[in-house]
Amino acid sequence: MIPNRSPRAAWQDTLAHAVSDPSDLLARLELPSDLVSGQARNAFPLRVPEPFIARMRKGDPNDPLLTQVLPLAAESDSVAGYSTDPLGEAAARAGKGVVHKYQDRVLLIASSGCAINCRYCFRRHFPYQDNQISGRHWQDALRYIAADKELREVIFSGGDPLVTTDRRLSEMIRDLAEIPHLQRVRIHTRLPIVIPARITPELTEAMTATRLKPVMVLHSNHPQEIDESVGDAIKQLRQQGVTVLNQAVLLRGINDNVATLTRLSESLFEYGVLPYYLFVLDRVAGAAHFDVPDEEAQALVGELQTCLPGYLVPRLAREIAGEPSKTLLTPLRGNRD
Ligand SMILES: *Cc1c(COP(=O)(O)O)cnc(C)c1O
Ligand code: SF4
Repeated sequence: MIPNRSPRAAWQDTLAHAVSDPSDLLARLELPSDLVSGQARNAFPLRVPEPFIARMRKGDPNDPLLTQVLPLAAESDSVAGYSTDPLGEAAARAGKGVVHKYQDRVLLIASSGCAINCRYCFRRHFPYQDNQISGRHWQDALRYIAADKELREVIFSGGDPLVTTDRRLSEMIRDLAEIPHLQRVRIHTRLPIVIPARITPELTEAMTATRLKPVMVLHSNHPQEIDESVGDAIKQLRQQGVTVLNQAVLLRGINDNVATLTRLSESLFEYGVLPYYLFVLDRVAGAAHFDVPDEEAQALVGELQTCLPGYLVPRLAREIAGEPSKTLLTPLRGNRD
């Protein structure tokens, strides 16, 4: 008998074998195992797939890819102003898995999981389990979107929506394409950076098979994340007409300098990706040690404007609960002694 199930794709195997034991990760990088905090790990597990580890430098405890995923003792500090739901998402839910905050676009929680657990993530405390769209909740979401004629765009988010199978994504996009007032479909994902093999011909096909204009927003924070394997994946998307953008988070000790941010924009554009947003950190409990103060962030982007063409400078932004769009922060320049 042939089992009635498609074989597991290579990316799914890689995902299933992601490293979750800090000792394994640190041994591979030839680092001492006492770098990790058990308490922080219990609060939010370590999770990092092989292809991302392969881009880390051995023997460097400050490697900018490692420090994005390693549970540290500093996460357990309680810092005033940092909470478990900094974006007020609990209040903006329009139904299971539907987050509708802005007028013409609606965000769907298409998956409960991520390929990688980023320590600074504002979703680290988010109750995914009760929120993802599946089964009858998908029909409810479709009804909600069909009923609001102002909606033009559906954004798949998560978690990471690309943890979902190509078949499921394809079905969902086809269903959406039947809603006449929709024009665009967008996927927000870190998976092509973490596991470039996630960009399969089936995924590209799912994104481009309908009348909806496809957009993918990647999430890369550091030029060391962009290697040729990532570039090849991006090329497949772009060749089929997907608009590819990047958003990053400004992170203390990882990308909080002009040289790194310049290289990030340049590395992305090597493959035709335009920078979209550079977010200041959401004030999520456990991530305060990554914070860069607004004024410093504004000065950094001000300086970035002098080093790069305007189209390679990301918009510095923050998400503020209750606002009708992201809030932009003005770049500052030239007022230093
Ligand atoms: C960030 C976000 C969007 C997208 O905002 P853009 O400025 O269009 O990128 C849409 N909906 C929600 C709920 C969001 O948080
Ligand atoms: S939602 Fe994005 S930033 Fe958060 S853990 Fe998942 S991949 Fe990382």
